[in-house]
Parts: sequence; structure tokens; C-alpha cells
Amino acid sequence: MNDIDLKQYIASIPDFPKPGILFYDIGSLMRNADAWQLATARMAHAVAPWQPDQLAAIESRGFLTAAPLSTRLGAGIVMLRKPGKLPGETISHSYDLEYGSDTLHIQAGAIQPGQRVVVTDDMLATGGTLAASIALLRKAGANVVGASVLMELTALRGREKVDVPVHALLSYD
Ligand code: 5GP
Repeated sequence: MNDIDLKQYIASIPDFPKPGILFYDIGSLMRNADAWQLATARMAHAVAPWQPDQLAAIESRGFLTAAPLSTRLGAGIVMLRKPGKLPGETISHSYDLEYGSDTLHIQAGAIQPGQRVVVTDDMLATGGTLAASIALLRKAGANVVGASVLMELTALRGREKVDVPVHALLSYD
């Protein structure tokens, strides 16, 4: 199976979650065991040279990419979550969306100062979520050494919003 073959497992759903948006669905890839194994093995192979201590998982589909990367690479996982989800003291970072704003939290003390962290999610679109995640991780003391996404919408040029190397397994124009 090559990258072209993997794309055939990603369903594209028009007008979700809003009219005019074409949504690429990780669910249709994940439920094919062989395709999911291959996708996550390839992501792990690309991330391995960055030698992460931790994967930072962006809620919620980033949890799904972080788990296999973590076990394949022998790294931990820290969750970046929406407000009200994490127990104990947290560090937060707010960022602007097209309409309104959003906030991500991390547990205080989740990162040891200078730990090598790779942030992961299913999709890189405009890059706003990834840039905010990196800013939050740096507030928490991380050395962010890269970002790993399953899919990238290259025309939106999201990777230009971040100053770390980004690996995307599958690219869409
Ligand atoms: P960005 O902040 O880069 O514009 O959007 C990225 C975030 O939106 C990611 O957390 C991702 O889960 C979600 N997202 C945006 N478009 C899609 C899509 O087509 N498919 C999936 N699976 N997630 C998307």
C-alpha cells in the first residue's frame, strides 16, 4: 500500500460540519485495520528522528494519532484539552477562530523543562490550532521539536504559521 492507496480510505464528506466545508474523515481510515496500521507506522517512522520524550495530543482526534505514535516510539502522551476537562492546576492559551475564540489547557507540571515534544493531530488546515498548541506547550516549558499530522490541506498554508518542522502523511490541495 502506498500513500495514494491510503487516501482511498479517507472519506470526504461535503458540507460538514458547516455548508461549504469538505470534511476529511479519519474514522473511515481507522476502521480498516491494515490501513490504520500502515498509516501510524509511517507517521512514527517520520517522527522517530525527532526523538520525542512526549507526544502532545490535541483534543480530540489528536488523541487518536498520539496513542499509536507513543507506543511505537516509547514516548509519553500529554493531552491539550478544551476548558473544564483536566483536573488540577492548568496552564492555558487562548486563540482566535474565524468566528470567536477558543482556549486549550495543559496540566501544570505535565512537561519537564526542556523536554522534547512533538505535537500531533489528525488534520492541519489553517494552522491556528497547531500554532496555539505550540504556544501553550512553550508556556509549559516544552522544547517543541516538530509536529505530526495525518492530513494537511496544503492550499491553506497552515505550516507557515508555525516555526517547527511539520510532517504530514497525506496532503490535499
Ligand atoms: P486549523 O486550526 O488548522 O484550521 O484546523 C485544524 C483542526 O480542525 C484540527 O484539530 C482538525 O481536527 C480539525 N479539522 C478541520 N478540518 C478538518 C477535516 O477536514 N477533517 C478532520 N478530520 N478534521 C478537521
